[in-house]
Amino acid sequence: MVAALEIRNLHVSVEDRPILRGVNLTVKQGEVHALMGPNGSGKSTLANVLMGHPAYQVTAGQVIFDGEDLLEMEADERSRAGLFLAFQYPVAIPGVTLANFLRQALNARLKAKDPDSKGISIPEFRRLMKAKMDLLQMDHSFAGRYLNDGFSGGEKKRAEILQMATLEPRIAILDETDSGLDIDALRIVSDGVNKLRGPQLGVLVITHYQRILNYIQPEYVHVMLDGQIVESGGPDLALRLEEMGYEWIRARHNPA
Ligand code: ADP
Ligand code: MG
Repeated sequence: MVAALEIRNLHVSVEDRPILRGVNLTVKQGEVHALMGPNGSGKSTLANVLMGHPAYQVTAGQVIFDGEDLLEMEADERSRAGLFLAFQYPVAIPGVTLANFLRQALNARLKAKDPDSKGISIPEFRRLMKAKMDLLQMDHSFAGRYLNDGFSGGEKKRAEILQMATLEPRIAILDETDSGLDIDALRIVSDGVNKLRGPQLGVLVITHYQRILNYIQPEYVHVMLDGQIVESGGPDLALRLEEMGYEWIRARHNPA
């Protein structure tokens, strides 16, 4: 069965200030969506809510993942259910290699499925990592480094994509917005998504950066403005944004 992430009339406040004001969006396995919009429109708020960040209060609406109430699930349950949320500012874990981190994550998932599982064997895991790193054209030494410790912006993105490749989520949400995003990081994320895209993976790429559309071709493009999705379309909407920026959308929705 195809899994879907269904966001229905979602209202979210931060410190009692309404930020999201009725967001509707469905992302299914096999689809690639881009969520775009100017800074401050609420894109990261949406990502943070989906991640279960405690600072964000859902005041109305629902999020259903694969038929279950996502907002009732703990962060680790969300992950085990097949939702992958890339952190915009990933934490460093000195002393834990990327490989170890990924093996623990995989094993936790196997145990959740089958309490008697012994987890993935080390040789099997090594083979899996090598295959994924080859697919993503990463140097094998990368897996031996401490997670995000001293990583450059581009390396953090690489680590994120490797996690996504290894954990094989059904739906992945990548919040790429804001400062620190350079064209290299953008290309790493885009190449990764392009390599991993397929019928088993649904992706929501969040960005205000229109140039991402030169690297990723989403099938669906949505524009968020002031906490609502005000436009949705296909690749033609992406072209229009590239040409005209966000101002025409703003003018259309706030005729003042
Ligand atoms: P975007 O990702 O589209 O740039 P954000 O979701 O980061 O937008 O921000 C939308 C609005 O919500 C902004 O006005 C921002 O200041 C506010 N906001 C988001 N997160 C927080 C937070 N943790 N605390 C206070 N205000 C926040
Ligand atoms: Mg943001």
